[in-house]
Amino acid sequence: MNVADSEVVMGIMHSQGYRITRQVSQADVILVNTCSVRENAEQRIFGRLGHYRRYKHQNPGIVIGILGCMAERLRSKLMEEESVVDVVVGPDEYRKLPGLVESAAKGTRGIAVKLSRVENYDDIVPLRTEGICAWISVMRGCDKFCTFCVVPFTRGRERSRSVANAVREVGELSARGFKEVTLLGQNVNSYHDGEHDFADLLASVAGVDQSVRVRFTTSHPQDMSDKLIETIARYDNICNYIHLPVQSGSDRILGLMNRTYSSEHYRNLVKRIKSTVQNVSLSTDIIAGFPTETEDDHRMTLNLLEEIRYDGAFMFKYSPRENTPAFEMGNSIPDEVKVRRLNEIIELQQRISRENNQALVGRNVEVLIEGESKKSKEAWTGRTDTNKVVVFPRENTEVGDYVRVKVSSATSATLFGEPTNVLAGRPSGTTERAAIVFPDSAQSVQDRIDR
Ligand code: SF4
Repeated sequence: MNVADSEVVMGIMHSQGYRITRQVSQADVILVNTCSVRENAEQRIFGRLGHYRRYKHQNPGIVIGILGCMAERLRSKLMEEESVVDVVVGPDEYRKLPGLVESAAKGTRGIAVKLSRVENYDDIVPLRTEGICAWISVMRGCDKFCTFCVVPFTRGRERSRSVANAVREVGELSARGFKEVTLLGQNVNSYHDGEHDFADLLASVAGVDQSVRVRFTTSHPQDMSDKLIETIARYDNICNYIHLPVQSGSDRILGLMNRTYSSEHYRNLVKRIKSTVQNVSLSTDIIAGFPTETEDDHRMTLNLLEEIRYDGAFMFKYSPRENTPAFEMGNSIPDEVKVRRLNEIIELQQRISRENNQALVGRNVEVLIEGESKKSKEAWTGRTDTNKVVVFPRENTEVGDYVRVKVSSATSATLFGEPTNVLAGRPSGTTERAAIVFPDSAQSVQDRIDR
């Protein structure tokens, strides 16, 4: 989300004549886009400001801005306590940035942090500087109010862009040679532009150009409809990958988190997804050590991981955030217990990811080449539509090619293999539609869609 927002900010600044530099020492303006989801992310920004103070000392005319959720959350506190900061701009006020930067260059520090019910930057052309994969923000804000989360307070209420605008943007990206788009929102499943829901949006975007892969994130388990699951199954270029945050395996903790679903609802949803979308890959988010979490609650989370067998997970220890309802519950789990539980979760998930990946050894996977491998100039890295990273020799292939790769070895994070052939410029999909059957009926998804 912050990458997409930074591209919006770059688009706004670019339209006013600013240009990007890769050298911080050459910059006239330094804008730091921030995240408030975890305390650690905020601490890193304070560390970064100390670093920028040096540049300001060398060049007092430099303008330094703090953008994003931390700007919204801390507002004037940042101005009062951090003399190095010249402008503070929340996520819904980026249009004011050029004016504020101009004033700051003349010596007037400024702040703009008002949340909007309508701002979605629909008319701004984001400045995308590299790569073949693009983020497209299709909705902003969140109405869920999970008790641990600051997002509803820093990004405001949900609002969606129109399908027509998102489709237009994908068309432009396809014309420029982009090969993958990820539709973004805090909870894309509650997308609604007044006429169309998220399944409609996904189908429309997938129809723009079949050589462009479509991903989306993040899904809330409460709002994921059968219509959406069927849409994912229907289109070859909609990736068979769903990030479905569960947070905990314990119903008591899910209740305290205000996640609005039970573990049974979640399990049934996963069953429907797995039986409808062939070869689907799932990932999740887990929080270890939420207030009052017992060893039994923790074991329920481990059991859920064993049962679902996710391909990946973002796993964190609970980080109390001021002004959230969970903050009032206290931070009752000692840090060493949180760390131990988190390590158990990570260890288990790594084993499962490794086993899932090793089961692919000897099989062919379809990879979109994204760029050079970090470890070798002779190798490409890319991802399968199930979001697995694959590294393989370059041979006669290019970035943006779809390549079939035979997997020869695997770790928990990466598949390694040999390219067997270049595909005809578009994803073939791993979904054999005729084989998809609902658990509760003998009717195939395709039959249902056709009818
Ligand atoms: S759904 Fe996600 S963004 Fe919204 S409140 Fe819950 S955790 Fe935060």
